[in-house]
Formats: sequence, structure tokens, C-alpha cells
Amino acid sequence: MENVHKRFGQNHVLNGVSLEIERGQVVAIIGRSGSGKSTLLRCLNGLEKIDSGSIRVCETELNGLASKDLLRLRQRVGIVFQGYNLFPHLTVKRNVTLALTNIKKMSLAEANAIASKVLQQVGMAEKLEAYPEMLSGGQQQRVAIARSLAMMPELILFDEVTSALDPELTGEVLRTMENLAREGMTMTLVTHEMAFAKKVADVLVFMHAGKVWEIGSPKELFAHPKTEELNRFINSEI
Ligand code: ADP
Ligand code: MG
Repeated sequence: MENVHKRFGQNHVLNGVSLEIERGQVVAIIGRSGSGKSTLLRCLNGLEKIDSGSIRVCETELNGLASKDLLRLRQRVGIVFQGYNLFPHLTVKRNVTLALTNIKKMSLAEANAIASKVLQQVGMAEKLEAYPEMLSGGQQQRVAIARSLAMMPELILFDEVTSALDPELTGEVLRTMENLAREGMTMTLVTHEMAFAKKVADVLVFMHAGKVWEIGSPKELFAHPKTEELNRFINSEI
């Protein structure tokens, strides 16, 4: 992202954001509520249009992309939200295969093979035939992650995926994400899990007032915040 600006009316939500995410990197974004973290993610996969600046994802410039190209880009950049939004009337397996058959036009057999593989990756292989309501929140979130993985994205964005979960269910989802990171998946995640960010992220971004206020290795930023804003944020989160 280069000098990205995004306003909602008078609200200058992204105020000149520049950020580089390399293949294979895990980037964690932290910051106060309202600092523009979700908007940044949504701009990255074209869900929001930016006012100025430039966003390039895997060699594709997002600005001015035709809608069919935007759809194609969204297949390469997965996004997982806090609410998992699984279809309640479909089995776990069908939730995962739906976009494969309907958008990627795969055969059901092909899609089922991929579903088995990605559900195994998130530790949900034995729940193929279950319906979402039979699963815990943590399990549903892991299915949502599998659904995103099934599209073979080059980058996955996670927006506070554990924030709606009870504390005892958070760990299993974080472990799933940690495994993905270890397998080399390029990931950008907005999180309040400071310990997780410290352990898993290669790069930590602190957003404040619509800007990348501080950026660096998690260890460095947590140990030696350069600004009063980050210092205060860290102390309020721990
Ligand atoms: P964060 O994820 O860091 O909490 P957001 O990116 O969700 O922050 O929001 C940043 C600011 O932009 C907030 O003031 C929010 O109210 C505003 N905002 C976000 N999305 C919209 C929208 N679709 N329309 C109007 N304002 C929005
Ligand atoms: Mg948010």
C-alpha cells in the first residue's frame, strides 16, 4: 500500500498509509478501536475503494479494477471475519465446497477432495457432515478458516477472528492460525491477542489516527515503544 487515503464523509480513516507485506510474512495489526484496522484490511481485498494512493496485490493494481477482475482478486485474497457467517442449512463440507463449485466451477468430487484436505488442516476432518449449529464457536471459526483456505488464496486477512469467542475457545483458533503461519501462509491479522502477535508475527503494525504509527519486529515494539501512544496502548491491553 502506498500513501493510501480513505475517508468516510468527514472521517479521515486512512490518512496516508504505506505498508509492504512480503510473501510468507505474518503481519499483525494492533491499535485502538476506530483506528482504521478493519478498513485497511477491507481495502486490501477490494471490499472498500480508496480515495487516493495505490494498493498492489500480487502485481495487480487495485485502483480502477473492473468488477470481474475484482472478483478474481478476492479469490486470491481471503478474508475471515469475527462472525464466521457459515450457512446454517449446509453441512460443514458443503459450506467449504460451495464457492469451489459455484465460483471456481469445480466438480463436486474435486471440491470434496479439497474440503477434506483443508478441514484436516484446521483439525475439523471428523465434522464433515455436521451442521454449524452442532459446533462450538471455535469450531465454526476453524471451518470459516478452512473455507477461506479452500480457495487457495495467496494472502489471508484475519479481522479479530477470536474476539467473539469465549476465552477457552480462543486457543484452538490461534493454534490453527499458528500452524498456517508455520506452513508458510502469507497472513495479515488484526488482533487483540498481544501474546499471540508477539509469538507469531514477523512484523507488528501499530495503527493510530489512520496512520501506521509504529512498525517493526514485535519484540522490539513491545519492549521499546517509541511513541507515547503505543506505550499507552500496550499498557492498557496487558
Ligand atoms: P477499527 O477496525 O480499527 O476499529 P474501522 O476501520 O472499523 O476501525 O473504523 C475506522 C473508522 O471508520 C471508525 O470511525 C468507523 O466508524 C468508520 N467507518 C468504518 N466503516 C465505515 C463505513 N462503512 N461507513 C462509515 N464509516 C465507517
Ligand atoms: Mg475492526
